[in-house]
Amino acid sequence: MTAPAKREPVTGPLLEIEDLVVEFAGDEETVRAVDGAGYTVAPGETLGVVGESGSGKSVTAMSALGLIRPPGRVVSGRVVFDGSDLRAMAPRELRRLRGGRIAMIFQDPTTALNPVMSIGAQIGEALRLHRRGMSRAKARARAAELLTLVGVPGAERRLKQYPHEFSGGMRQRAMIAMAIANDPDLLIADEPTTALDVTVQAQVLDLIRLTRRETGAATVLITHDLGVVAELADRVVVMYAGRVVEHGAVAAIFDSPRHPYTRGLLESLPALDGEAGDLTPIPGSPPAPGEIAEGCAFAPRCPMARDRCRVERPELVQLGAVAGGRGGSSPHLETGAGRGSACHFHHELAGEETDARA
Ligand code: ADP
Ligand code: MG
Repeated sequence: MTAPAKREPVTGPLLEIEDLVVEFAGDEETVRAVDGAGYTVAPGETLGVVGESGSGKSVTAMSALGLIRPPGRVVSGRVVFDGSDLRAMAPRELRRLRGGRIAMIFQDPTTALNPVMSIGAQIGEALRLHRRGMSRAKARARAAELLTLVGVPGAERRLKQYPHEFSGGMRQRAMIAMAIANDPDLLIADEPTTALDVTVQAQVLDLIRLTRRETGAATVLITHDLGVVAELADRVVVMYAGRVVEHGAVAAIFDSPRHPYTRGLLESLPALDGEAGDLTPIPGSPPAPGEIAEGCAFAPRCPMARDRCRVERPELVQLGAVAGGRGGSSPHLETGAGRGSACHFHHELAGEETDARA
């Protein structure tokens, strides 16, 4: 295994997505699912990607795996992994990358597991695909080690079983074992806990922590659960209607969101101490991709919206370090790729604290 990536100075981003536009062709119309979104992930860091369902989180991440297929199409933008342009890569190279240096964990492990192959054979195949010359016996031994590592008891016996003989939680573990088999540099976890009950959710989050520790992998953690982000992520990207509306370090975003959408998400989050408090869900629902009007896509639901928001689409702007302070109390350290907001009136949010966290 490679040494875990250091958190300190980073030479360059491991993953860079810039100005990504992805469309899906339908019978009637072409739908723009991602409309100029982008983010960067540094080696070893965990980036949380949040936003309501349909905001383009999965499609953006899938572009980093070269997994956008017809009727989907990457129309424009840059997707660069460790210096290589993924959009220019041959399918063979992409296949080598997936399950090798880039691993995936999905919400539903059944999509990642082959129902007619034993768990041992699948993990073994994942290993042998990326390590030529690894013997079957060696792959099997390593598969047992990996299953044990992710907390599947009786790994030797379990290797012979098929996915349907595993419970939901155990299948999730098997998928994670497969994901970390090749010591990835980047792990993409798309709603890894959404379908699970609370106890298993906690176990899976522990496993993601374990995975990071074992592999030092950078992680893109897609979730609509801000609580998960607070626990695991270093930085957050907030997506709405196919765009990034805010990004920044977790502490900065949670203390002092600079986009009304982020604030809305935080106010609809139960306090982390378990008290429900005054939960205020964001009224309305996100626009369907075809229905985004002029101006800011969030304006129809935004308590701060005014005329300008309905005609002029706000660009994502970098916020200066000075704007991070709260009247001099505890200035925030701006980290990584800094902090940005796509709200015309982000400065009005500076200095306000969210009720949800008070
Ligand atoms: P999220 O992961 O944030 O819930 P997605 O990235 O999955 O959202 O999808 C964003 C939008 O892209 C969807 O609302 C849908 O309109 C469109 N989309 C995604 N996948 C497909 C697909 N396979 N075919 C057609 N449209 C799709
Ligand atoms: Mg999704």
